[in-house]
Amino acid sequence: MRAFHVAKARAKNCEVLDDLTMDELRVAYRFAQKRGCVYCGEKIGDDFSVDHVIPMSKGAHNSFWNIVVCHEKCNYRKHNKPASKFASKEKMDEIIFDMIIRSPYHEEAITNFLSTGEFISSEDGKALRDIEDRGKVTKDG
Ligand SMILES: [Zn+2]
Repeated sequence: MRAFHVAKARAKNCEVLDDLTMDELRVAYRFAQKRGCVYCGEKIGDDFSVDHVIPMSKGAHNSFWNIVVCHEKCNYRKHNKPASKFASKEKMDEIIFDMIIRSPYHEEAITNFLSTGEFISSEDGKALRDIEDRGKVTKDG
């Protein structure tokens, strides 16, 4: 899967935690095949790409909870904007629902990340450190 390796390379470039597995991407891809592109709703084919709801350039992870599958052209149009500044209200509700289910962070943290476009506020930074301290995630993925 080309999109998988592209996401891995970008995560390395952005120096963010990267724990996305191929199996997780397959799950996200199956969702997208049923629902359509997470941004435009049209059918997804082989030309999909992995997008990060909170951009990796803002420090967010290449992790199952932060990815959506969309068209390459939609990802290109979205560019570095957070998903909340690009997706429709309806699509964004679906995205947030998926994130909350998959994420180690609580709902308030997710909505805070999305409204600020920044991954780590001081409070959420503490939550992240707590999780790291418990050894659930490591900086090396
Ligand atoms: Zn699309």
